[in-house]
Amino acid sequence: MQYRPLGRTGLEVSVIGFGASPLGDVFGVTDPEEGERAVHMAVDEGINLFDVSPYYGVTLAEERLGAALRGRRERVILSTKCGRYGVDNFDFSARRIAASIEESLGRLQTDHLDVLLAHDIEFGDLNQIIEETIPAMRQLQKQGKARYIGISGYPLRPLVRVVQAVPLDVVLSYCHYNLLADDMDAILAPVAEQFEVGLINASPFSMGLLTEQGPPEWHPAAKATRDAAKRAAEYARSRGADLAELALRFCFDYPRAATTLVGMVTREQVRKSLRALERPADRQLVREIHAIFGDAFNSSWLSGREENQ
Ligand code: NAD
Repeated sequence: MQYRPLGRTGLEVSVIGFGASPLGDVFGVTDPEEGERAVHMAVDEGINLFDVSPYYGVTLAEERLGAALRGRRERVILSTKCGRYGVDNFDFSARRIAASIEESLGRLQTDHLDVLLAHDIEFGDLNQIIEETIPAMRQLQKQGKARYIGISGYPLRPLVRVVQAVPLDVVLSYCHYNLLADDMDAILAPVAEQFEVGLINASPFSMGLLTEQGPPEWHPAAKATRDAAKRAAEYARSRGADLAELALRFCFDYPRAATTLVGMVTREQVRKSLRALERPADRQLVREIHAIFGDAFNSSWLSGREENQ
């Protein structure tokens, strides 16, 4: 396993991060025992960053991850979130954040988190995030409940605004750096570097788009983007390659992100992530896939409040 520094936190995170949202059955019903075995295999293979949220499966992912990490907690860097609790259920108030961490610690069966992120800040009032939420999270840090704090979200500008406005340790961006998009590199990465904030890249398959099985029903991408991803998967297959593996390798090779969070729920998926890190990158095939994407490349969708787009 390769490790990279996470900003100035002093944490060294594995290049492959374990995204635990599928443990909450967000991509379809999963086998909890296999999910637990996948977590154990990941820890044994040196994957040390585990990311979850109370939102994933409405607490189910946290419950399952907490159970799977029993006896292994000290070997991992554990990250969860606060502020988002359902599709339309957000509360970034100081009071809710303080209660939220206690609930998460209980489900995760631990007395502290390594990272706590305000979840999907574009759904909140950014002034509240800056003036109330982050200070409340700093309080929790002072109390020893979270070692480092940060923010996550989809549109890049709100992330940039908050990174510039208030000291943070970590910023998590998803679906903006993968085979289908690279705008995180121009918009967020330079600001994260300037402020020495650790950059976490998430969703290397763009939440399932860049896989053979395709995205879940709820995926927000436009039909043209879904169609382009499907054509890319077919093309990769015709060349004897797997689009998902290509997508993983593309993200792992990106040096400005400390880690890429991959949503995994089976040992086979953990194995595939490990294999993608070892095999040589096929740059020619990546160029051909990019030509297939055409206008779908860097096309994005709306997420959050209108004023935060
Ligand atoms: P992803 O792009 O990682 O895709 C996950 C899907 O791909 C799941 O259905 C999984 O079963 C499947 N998969 C895993 N390995 C595969 C393989 N080798 N071949 C084919 N399919 C495979 O999307 P994600 O899970 O949304 O993102 C990863 C993690 O990043 C999340 O679990 C979460 O921890 C984090 N994340 C955070 C935010 C946020 O904070 N707002 C948003 C998105 C993701």
